[in-house]
Amino acid sequence: MAKIDILSLSMEELEEKILQFGDKKYRAGQIFRWLHVNRATDFSQMTNISAQTRALLEENFYINSLKIQKRLVSSADNTVKYLYVLPDGNKVETVLMEYHHGNSICLSTQVGCKMGCRFCASTKAGFVRDLEPSEILLQIYESERDSGRTVDSVVLMGIGEPLDNFDNVIKFLRLISHENGRNMSLRHVSLSTCGLADRINDLAQLDLGLTLSVSLHAPTDEKRDEIMPVNRKYPISVLIKACDDYFRKTGRRISFEFALIQGVNDDKKTADELISLLKPLGVCHVNLIPVNEIREGDYKKSSSVREFQQRLLNAGLNATVRRTLGADIEAACGQLRRDNI
Ligand code: SAH
Repeated sequence: MAKIDILSLSMEELEEKILQFGDKKYRAGQIFRWLHVNRATDFSQMTNISAQTRALLEENFYINSLKIQKRLVSSADNTVKYLYVLPDGNKVETVLMEYHHGNSICLSTQVGCKMGCRFCASTKAGFVRDLEPSEILLQIYESERDSGRTVDSVVLMGIGEPLDNFDNVIKFLRLISHENGRNMSLRHVSLSTCGLADRINDLAQLDLGLTLSVSLHAPTDEKRDEIMPVNRKYPISVLIKACDDYFRKTGRRISFEFALIQGVNDDKKTADELISLLKPLGVCHVNLIPVNEIREGDYKKSSSVREFQQRLLNAGLNATVRRTLGADIEAACGQLRRDNI
């Protein structure tokens, strides 16, 4: 029988296994702490667990790990970008950023992506597979170990569409927030989605307290269909309804990502359409990003980011421009993996 990935198991699943071994239920808590607090990489390190249970652990489970293939450190702002190799040889990217309020980490949730957004490097080589909960979690553990920094907040904004790997992402969220593990408040987690409205509804039901970021990038179906194929399945009216319901159910304001592309979505008319779309929602936030130019795309950075922002502000919409970190190390998602497949 194939060994089980123990770092992907919830506390409840681990308890069940330990009971099957004939050991006490509380032993699962000790093992969970060895894995998620002490970051044991080998069962032999678990010195307060009996030799018999350790042998059973060894026989039935393995402790997953990631290897660093590349580490790029920005000389400008200490941003570190990792290219991690997964046990099967696939690769994902993780970015560790320093802000005045602490360290934030941007995690990948899939190897590649199915969503096909026209401006995004992560989707260009297609989709390979979902990441396991342990593979999402280990991006934090390994980055903390390697950098000596402590991660204060998490953004699920790397390679992949988190809501297209729903179950594993939720499992990951339960693992990092478990009181016997990393114990991170989900208030410090943001999840970014291209707009899978059904899954946004599922997420609202779980009411986890995290911040939802929605990659909007266009205020009309005509324009959004063109740059984000997902819009044909979940058009803007359906997406905005899901966002509104999410806010009503959780009380958490939504953050809308808007990557400004020269001559595509950075004109006054688009700004006004965006205002008309979002004003009725009440509390929300618009995060403007000058689009990162990728090799495969013909999109250029907008030169009217400030004017666009000012128009939204004048209309009473909360709008900020995202700071660019790690510009010298290709910190934007997908580019490093693309060069190293
Ligand atoms: N699939 C999720 C999360 C990964 S993408 C999502 O779509 O939200 C993370 C963010 O980066 C999204 O807002 C995405 O639209 C944006 N993004 C992707 N490529 C970009 C580029 N070339 N320039 C600027 N933002 C980009």
